[in-house]
Amino acid sequence: MATDTTRIVAVDTYDIRFPTSRELDGSDAMNPDPDYSAAYLVLRTSADGPEGHGFTFTIGRGNDVQVAAIQALREHVVGRSVAEVCADPASLHRDLVGDSQLRWLGPEKGVMHMAIGAVVNAVWDLAAKREGKPLWRLLADAEPEWLLSQVDFRYIADALSPDEALHLLRRGKEGSADRAAELLRRGYPAYTTSPGWLGYSDEKLTRLAHEAVADGFRQIKLKVGADLADDIRRCRVARAAIGPDIRMAIDANQRWNVAEAISWTNALAEFDPYWIEEPTSPDDVLGHATVRERVAPIRVATGEHVQNRIIFKQLLQAGAIDVLQLDAARVGGVNENLAILLLAAKYGVPVCPHAGGVGLCELVQHLSMFDYVALSGTTEDRVIEFVDHLHQHFVDPVVIDDGHYRAPTAPGFSAAMHRASIDTYRYPQGDFWVADLAQQQNTEVPA
Ligand SMILES: [Mg+2]
Repeated sequence: MATDTTRIVAVDTYDIRFPTSRELDGSDAMNPDPDYSAAYLVLRTSADGPEGHGFTFTIGRGNDVQVAAIQALREHVVGRSVAEVCADPASLHRDLVGDSQLRWLGPEKGVMHMAIGAVVNAVWDLAAKREGKPLWRLLADAEPEWLLSQVDFRYIADALSPDEALHLLRRGKEGSADRAAELLRRGYPAYTTSPGWLGYSDEKLTRLAHEAVADGFRQIKLKVGADLADDIRRCRVARAAIGPDIRMAIDANQRWNVAEAISWTNALAEFDPYWIEEPTSPDDVLGHATVRERVAPIRVATGEHVQNRIIFKQLLQAGAIDVLQLDAARVGGVNENLAILLLAAKYGVPVCPHAGGVGLCELVQHLSMFDYVALSGTTEDRVIEFVDHLHQHFVDPVVIDDGHYRAPTAPGFSAAMHRASIDTYRYPQGDFWVADLAQQQNTEVPA
């Protein structure tokens, strides 16, 4: 057989923004006017085969900065052998994280790290397409030794040794075929944040909460943290709508100091919140531990803004969280998320991923499904966030069926967007934004 000489020849980048702030979709106590955006990239190759698609999520201004960060990584990517990088995505992950000059901008945190995550995820998308498998299946079918080789144990080996990780991965293989069949039959449990955005009226909250229960969801989530009297009223409205048996999580989006997090959460305890999410700064490991101690039995959850595996390690070591909310596009891609899933498995903390935004549901479902089939082996007390926004822009959108994510079967990481969506929502040259800008200029002209 001839050697596969296919190479990556280009990293095309796109600044894609959706005008979601106009409907108050996605509004919370810290982010009142998000325009959900994707810093999106396509890995083009020298052959007629599949391309790799990846992105990271931002909420508007700054998406251009995020795109520039992805472009700064080009030289590590262009020219690489597709066969080699797909056989060992960790080799690229190491090079990107290890760029000694760009590393100064982190290390392993913030805009540069999110850019690394987008590029690494695009390689995993390409690898899964070449294998003809959805990413969750590629990971679940992989040998434990190979998965282990994809994990960077630097800075986490004090909490999780490679030997322990290998043991967890081998244990995860036991019964995995049965779980894969069950996953394909039933899907993976979801919860919905759609009813609970801060900008919605009580009527809209009630209507959407009723719909959520009717649609088979067993958990909803409410945004809190702007005004306590409002939160008491909204929690009462939501609890009345869903009844006592549906779980109701609350999410403060980092609004509080530690003392305020404790008093505010306890003031909502009568409505039986299942977890309090992001009560304070995502960097405050010991603060979370204090909150957890003082709001029990209400669980503490965080992770969507946790910048890397090292902070997750400390949250687990400190006993600071009950629920770990990894995000597919915040950290350094699939490789780092494998490390985070392994840490969670070691500490026995359920992973309930953050999703929503643009395409985060599409991505993160693959990680949870792998975790169920071939690592933790359970969906008990595990749910993936679901927000019903913007899925129509994706070629392989998530499908929710009776409160469950249906397992994707198309090859890849479900990351590709429709060409028409890209052309319409590219900022500022896409059709939507050109028309919008022209309209704004017209209304600004004095009569
Ligand atoms: Mg949240």
